[in-house]
Amino acid sequence: MPHTKQRLESLFLSFTFLCNLKCDMCDIWQLKERGPSLGTIEKILKEAKKLGAHKLYLSGGEPFMRDDALEAIECAHRLGYVTNFVTNGSLLNKMLVKKLSKLRVNVTVSLEGSKECHDSMRGRGTYEMAISAIKMLRERHFLICLSMVITRQSYHYMKDLVDTAKALDVFSIGYQPFSRRNTWLRKEMWDKYIVPENEISGLINMINETVYYARQKRVILQSVHLLHMMPEYFRLREKIHPLNGCSIPFKSLAVNIDGLSVIPCVFHLDYIVGDMDHSSLAEIWNGEEFAKSRSMARQKLCRGCLSGCSDLEAYRMDGGNKDSPLKYLSKRYKILILRLRQRGLKWLWEEAYFRLRKLVRRWAAL
Ligand code: SF4
Ligand code: SF4
Repeated sequence: MPHTKQRLESLFLSFTFLCNLKCDMCDIWQLKERGPSLGTIEKILKEAKKLGAHKLYLSGGEPFMRDDALEAIECAHRLGYVTNFVTNGSLLNKMLVKKLSKLRVNVTVSLEGSKECHDSMRGRGTYEMAISAIKMLRERHFLICLSMVITRQSYHYMKDLVDTAKALDVFSIGYQPFSRRNTWLRKEMWDKYIVPENEISGLINMINETVYYARQKRVILQSVHLLHMMPEYFRLREKIHPLNGCSIPFKSLAVNIDGLSVIPCVFHLDYIVGDMDHSSLAEIWNGEEFAKSRSMARQKLCRGCLSGCSDLEAYRMDGGNKDSPLKYLSKRYKILILRLRQRGLKWLWEEAYFRLRKLVRRWAAL
């Protein structure tokens, strides 16, 4: 078996396909799958931990449709993971938020640019629910990211979301382009939501304005690189790659909703590189099939996407970064100051303690 020295950073876990909303641009809720059991999740987390993973991304679905979501996050916390998840906010309450605030989690709340736009895509009353969830989270000093789906209808409101983020003291915004892969059951939605060729120049203008506006308002966009690639994404019908290929399968893996099949990234749901029923996660991660998927990603032979691979970090790794090291450092510094302002000194102490503990454990393992 070929051996690779690749260290795993992030584990993407299909946590649940259950959802209490029926958003117009999404078919996931129709799958109605609960997801892997708590025992299976713990097993996956432990195996991934041995490979170096420390970031967990729960994908779905609405995570809190599962009554054991908190337990799963607690388990990840005990094992030293930082858990990241996206929620529509409708199932959060003060008690849950209080419990979550004691764990290492990063929360992304889905929010479209305006109430009108949000409710038309996600259902009446859902905007208010999301806003109240954001307020609850902010009361507990969560660092929140907002996530907006860019469609033919919504891109006009990109700047409005910057205002909302500022007003709610939210840390950052991630703009995700509409994906045909999320509406594979209703193909008629594609024409409804994809930004058409004759509106691409309008989208480019809006992106430029939003980037400038967010800078003025000191709201972080995740990421500016990704935003500028979005017009091309719509033009090429989603087949897009980072300039020098993608680095995602070099540092992360994803486990499907069955809790067994492993895929190189969440955009290749049908590209199974191994099965945890027959092999350990380490064997799959170090195996030939995974190595093949990495080489495909590097050579831009994979399916291509925008949401996962073109994030700033991956872009830098792939040599697509045009920022100078000084600019990069000043950006890191700004992020640290923002986090300090939003989470307070307690956060800094916890962060320092966690990193120190990790270092000590690593030394002890040597
Ligand atoms: S977009 Fe999110 S909140 Fe809406 S139906 Fe799909 S999974 Fe649920
Ligand atoms: S470009 Fe997208 S589809 Fe291809 S490997 Fe990277 S994340 Fe996966």
